[in-house]
Formats: sequence, C-alpha cells, structure tokens
Amino acid sequence: MPSELVIVYHRQPYEEVEEDGKIVFKENKSPNGIVPTLKGFFGRVEKGAWVAWKHADDPSNPDFERVVEIEDSYGKYSVSRLPLTPEQVKSFYHVTSKEAFWPILHSFKEKYNYDPVDWPTFREVNWAFAEAAAAEAAEGAVVWVHDYNLWLVPGYLRQLRPDVRISFFHHTPFPSADMFNVLPWRREIVGSLLACDVVGFHIPRYAANFLGVAESLFDVEAAPRTPVNPDFVGAGTALGEKRVAKSLTYEGRKVQIAVSPVGVDVDYIQSRAEQADTVSRAEAIRAGLGDCKMILSVGRTDYTKGGADQLMSFERLLEEHPELHRKVRLMHVSVSANRNMTVYEEIQNEIEQVAGRINGRFGTFEWQPVALISRAIPFDELVAYYRSADVAWITPLADGMNLVAKEFAACRTDGDGVLVLSEFAGAAIELTSAVLANPFSYKSMDRALIQAMDMEEDERRGRMEKMRETIRRYDIKSWAEDQMAGFAGVDRAAGDRS
Ligand code: UDP
Repeated sequence: MPSELVIVYHRQPYEEVEEDGKIVFKENKSPNGIVPTLKGFFGRVEKGAWVAWKHADDPSNPDFERVVEIEDSYGKYSVSRLPLTPEQVKSFYHVTSKEAFWPILHSFKEKYNYDPVDWPTFREVNWAFAEAAAAEAAEGAVVWVHDYNLWLVPGYLRQLRPDVRISFFHHTPFPSADMFNVLPWRREIVGSLLACDVVGFHIPRYAANFLGVAESLFDVEAAPRTPVNPDFVGAGTALGEKRVAKSLTYEGRKVQIAVSPVGVDVDYIQSRAEQADTVSRAEAIRAGLGDCKMILSVGRTDYTKGGADQLMSFERLLEEHPELHRKVRLMHVSVSANRNMTVYEEIQNEIEQVAGRINGRFGTFEWQPVALISRAIPFDELVAYYRSADVAWITPLADGMNLVAKEFAACRTDGDGVLVLSEFAGAAIELTSAVLANPFSYKSMDRALIQAMDMEEDERRGRMEKMRETIRRYDIKSWAEDQMAGFAGVDRAAGDRS
C-alpha cells in the first residue's frame, strides 16, 4: 500500500541487533533526537514510509531485504532500505557531505576539502533515494527530505513524480551566498531545492541566506519581506533577523520558505528530571563537588562546537582569577561521533591536550579543574548533570540549533541555573535571556562565564523562567504542528501551479 507520508532520512529509524543468530529491529527507547521526532509523524497518518540506506557488500545480492515492515510504539510503517557499498557510503557521506558540505554550511572555508569529492557517486546515491521515495509515495503524498546529504533528491523526485508534495528541512545553518557559492555544484544543489514546495530552516537568518543564494544563482522572485515571529527575532545578536520573505517564485512555481526552530520534548525531559533516581543522582553529584561550582559543557567533538576554544577560555580564567582555584570545576563532555575521520581525530587530540594542560598547570591531588568525558553519556544520566550544574556553558562557533541548551532549561524545574550560550547557536535567537557570548572574542567569552558565576539568585531565576516559557511554547509538539501546517498549505500552492 502506498504511503501518504514518506520520510527520507539517511539513517534507519531503529537499531539492528543480532539476537540468537537473527537480526532484529530494536526501537531506540530514548525519545531524544531527530529520529524519534520524525517517527512521531507516523502517528498522524494512516500509512507512512521511511527511506534510508543500509550497508551491503554486494547490493545485487537477492537476499537483501529492500523493504521491511515495522511495528513499534510509533505505529506501523515501512522502511525502504537502499543497499549501499562501504565505498558509496564513504564517498557520499564521509567525503562529500562531511568534508565538502559541512564546513561550508558552518562557514569554515579553511576546512573545506574539494579534492576527494566524487560527484557522480553523490548523484547516484541521491538518485537511488529519490527512486525509493517515488516507489513508496501515494498520489499527492508528502515526501519530506532531511538534510544536506540528500540535497539532490527533490530535483530527481520532481522528475519521477510531479504529483507529490516535496518538503525539505535543513537541520544545519545555511550560509550566505559568498560562503555557499564556494561549492562548485551550487547551481545543481539550489536548482534541486527549487523543485520543492517547502524549504524549511530553523531560524530566519538561514532562510534569508538561502533566498540570497537562490537570487544570486537563478532568476527567482522573492515575496516581499515581512516581519518574523517576534519570539525568533534575536534582535542585536549575531544571528538576528527582523524580516524575511515567506516564499519565492521560480519558473511560475511557488516555493514556501518556512522557518521553524525545532524544540525539545519538554514534558518528557521534565518527567525524567523529576524522577527519584535522577534527583538522588543529582544530589550525589552535588555532594561530590563540595563547595565548588559546577560548569557543564556538552557537545559532539567537532570543530564547529568550539570545544578547544572554550577550554582555552577556562585556562585564561584560572590564570587571571586565582580566587577561582578549588572553587570551580568544569565537566567537559565532548563525544567523538566520527572516530575514523582525521579532522575529528585532530580536534579530539587538541581537546585532550588543552584539558590535560589545564589539569597539569592548576590541578592538585584533591582538585582537578577539568573532568573531560569523551564517551556519550546516556540521556537519563545527562539529565542529572543538567540538574546539578550551576552554569551550562554552551559556546559553539556555529550550530544549526543546539538542543543541549534547550534540554538544560527543560531540566531546571527547580528554576535555577544559568545558561551561557553562543550567539552563533540557532537557539540564541529564542533564548535571549541566556548570557549570550561571542565565542570569537576572548573578552566576551571570559566575561560571560564570570557574569554567570557571579549572578545573584533573583536574576538567575528571572532569566531561567523566561527561557523555560520559551522552550515550553516552542516545544517539539509545536514544531510538529508547524510542519503539518506547512504540508497542508502546499495543497493551495499545488492549486496555484495547475
Ligand atoms: N547527548 C547525549 N549524551 C551525550 C552528549 C549529547 O545524549 O553525552 C545528546 C544531547 O542530549 C542532545 C544531542 O545529543 O539531544 C545533541 O544535540 P545538539 O543539537 O545539541 O547537537 P548536534 O550533535 O545535533 O549538533
């Protein structure tokens, strides 16, 4: 039976594990992250499908199960699996997406690596995704494509299935034209995005950048710019944007430009934060701190997250403020997600080096200023750290949204705790009551942390209350409603087209 909603996301929506010599599909119980959020949409339609890739040494092997039917707590849905060889995965994902696109999306021109890109393989893999989505979609279905590694899918899909409604969501930043247009495949990528009915972004600034890029490459006509939702303006911050066009027209077709910052599941996170085991774990963490303040930093090991820069800021503070010695501890969680890539190994080494240097320079037997953690902490445990921290110090150099910042506020049902947040995280346009820091300025970084540590309780509580109001209003449910409204709006656009 064809599906009315087809989600195209490169990863499979479950864990494959071997039990008694058989492969079984295990539901990932944590409702955190993009996969469970997207699966939640299957509860809103009669029949849904998902398209992802799966490793296959021999893609022509007749035993390879192309489509599997899944039934889990999100409902019944099919998963269409593309058999990709390790060479194809390396080329389309690790090389083209991570070495060429990722640095450009985050405005790190110096990390951009063009040489190893094999563009025909990127096209081939995207074509296979488009074909699989076309095979699953019912007449007039919504096909919802996610992220830059599938940029060419909308264009191919439009050729294969002119009837379907295509929505594309970017989970990353979208850079300005002078950065994006470094990519030699810029026209092909943007041409594909212009085949969509809806192109979605987290924040107005990324949408405005996309419009700028489209205008630089194609003869598009943007609708007049209108004021953005006052809660997403981020006035005066690095990513602030007051007005943005809601659509553009290209070759007589309307493309909606949707802005919708993804939120977190506040109800779930709060319930985890208030559970007895979390509360006692948090008490134990605090007891272990003695009279030290706890600063918490959580992120993936990636040059965009600015881990080493942050540690260097901490080192400067310990150098300049000896009164902080034995009074503060930094828990720096930097999870290595791409261990086999040199660029990530380099940044991991740098982080280990700076953390080791700080502990060597300032630490004593009783007091280690930095606790560096490189393994992923299960979410249930992380919640206890969020609850225990005096300050969450989240200072990426570029970040599409940053859910850690929102999770921290969601956990603080006690109403206390200070968030220091980079102005270059998408979340900063909503969380303007955080202490905002510019991670490219030593002064701003150092000052923000001191301000957070010295903040009086009244001010801490006032700021936290505002942030908690915002994350509650724009939680994951409101994001889902926004997306559904966007899909529904396409019916009218389709009418316009005919
Ligand atoms: N996370 C986790 N354990 C860790 C570190 C991170 O469960 O040790 C989770 C965190 O709770 C958050 C996600 O990883 O949900 C990171 O999302 P974010 O948007 O902050 O950054 P991304 O890695 O997607 O760039």
